[in-house]
Amino acid sequence: MQPQLRRTKIIATLGPATDAPGALKRLLAEGVNVVRLNLSHGTPDDHRARAAAVRAAAAELGNEVAILADLQGPKIRVERFANGPIELQAEQVFTLDCRPDAPAGDATRVGVSYHDLWRDVKPGDILLLDDGLIALEVLEVGKQTVRCSVLIGGRLSDRKGINRQGGGLTVAALSDKDRNDIKLAAELEADFLAVSFVKTADDIHTARRLLHEAGGTAALVAKIERAEAIVNLSEIVIASDAVMVARGDLGVEIGDAELPGLQKKIIREALLQSRVVITATQMMQSMVESPIPTRAEVLDVANAVIDGTDAVMLSQETAAGKHPDKAVAAMRRVCLGAERQFEPTEDLSVGAHRLDRTDQAIALAAMFLAGQIGVRAIVALTESGGTAQWLSRYRSIVPIYALSRNAAARRRMLLYRDVNPIDFDAQGVGPTQAARDAIRHLFTLGHLSVDDRVILTTGDHTGQLGGTNTLKLLKVGQGGVAEGLGEL
Ligand code: PGA
Ligand code: MN
Repeated sequence: MQPQLRRTKIIATLGPATDAPGALKRLLAEGVNVVRLNLSHGTPDDHRARAAAVRAAAAELGNEVAILADLQGPKIRVERFANGPIELQAEQVFTLDCRPDAPAGDATRVGVSYHDLWRDVKPGDILLLDDGLIALEVLEVGKQTVRCSVLIGGRLSDRKGINRQGGGLTVAALSDKDRNDIKLAAELEADFLAVSFVKTADDIHTARRLLHEAGGTAALVAKIERAEAIVNLSEIVIASDAVMVARGDLGVEIGDAELPGLQKKIIREALLQSRVVITATQMMQSMVESPIPTRAEVLDVANAVIDGTDAVMLSQETAAGKHPDKAVAAMRRVCLGAERQFEPTEDLSVGAHRLDRTDQAIALAAMFLAGQIGVRAIVALTESGGTAQWLSRYRSIVPIYALSRNAAARRRMLLYRDVNPIDFDAQGVGPTQAARDAIRHLFTLGHLSVDDRVILTTGDHTGQLGGTNTLKLLKVGQGGVAEGLGEL
């Protein structure tokens, strides 16, 4: 009996808690597939050091790990206070000072990073600070000032975020800092670039253009965390390679009660458009302090798996928590549990999925047959990982082994649910020999056993991009020799 392979992928955010000696290696050893560099914090040199440390630790472990660079985006923040944090009392008046040269804040007023805020708000608007822990109602808008009444008070410290309930602030999606950080992501050779506070498909097109100009090749992740992004969801999904259900900011803008429905809607839309989807934020928040998750967190992670997410993400739990590796271990355990209980029920009937391309058609056919004839695995000989992506858009009942000689393609596939990327060079031999070599390779690695039935997808010319046009039904013979299947 082979051990259960995890289908759902795990993203862990790096931070001070993973900088300690040995911490990163322990974290990766628990099964992290992708690490997130959060560009909202730290200097470029911090991120350079972390990216190098990730690659060194992964090499030591013999694991492949992808890097996701996450842009800060135009997060609106209060500026600093002159004498440390203040205590806001309900019903007091508090002023947001939009002047670029606003003095350091005090108990009655503070500067803000978005100097046009006063143009975008009107009396009666609700502003949420520090992810909704503090609420202000706008009383009066003057030139460069927004006078508010405190609805929910609390402690407010430097640089806390501001959102408007319902969204609608006009600030552009890419700040000057983001533009510089895109160059940094290219320099770091990040595998994924996440764009924060996306409003339209154009935000993604712009980020992609800037990334290419900087020589980067990362896949683009749109973070869905604004009210406007929900309105423009399909066009954003189509413009992106992957989307993130960014529940932190989304919950603040739209209201927490809408989150469960939106999570399901975003996941459904991503899969419908054959895109990848990440579920993020506060998945195991109590593990910042506690060595075990709450029951509610266990259910939340499992429900995201059942909703069909490709990946689940840890933020503060690993970046600043007391138990980063335990958080990953808990995530892995809960994903495996959910995957054991809930067999995918994919509708593979004609018409349920769009078919635009040959490799996509082969992927759908492979998935249909996997269900019909019962196979141990689907094996894809893939150059770019394209076929693996198509395969993984159908919630598979069997593991998918994606064999590629291209390390960057393998790292990108680390985000795809059900896909296990494997280093394999099929260059220079014909497709028949390549298929035989691939089966023997998986047999040698212990992924396949004698008598296993396998579906293999390949192209006429191995090593060619997007060339998958063939599906083979094979059986593993003695010594890992591929045989025809004959009678089903
Ligand atoms: P953040 O994005 O962690 O960069 O804020 C995720 C979210 O808002 O949920
Ligand atoms: Mn966010």
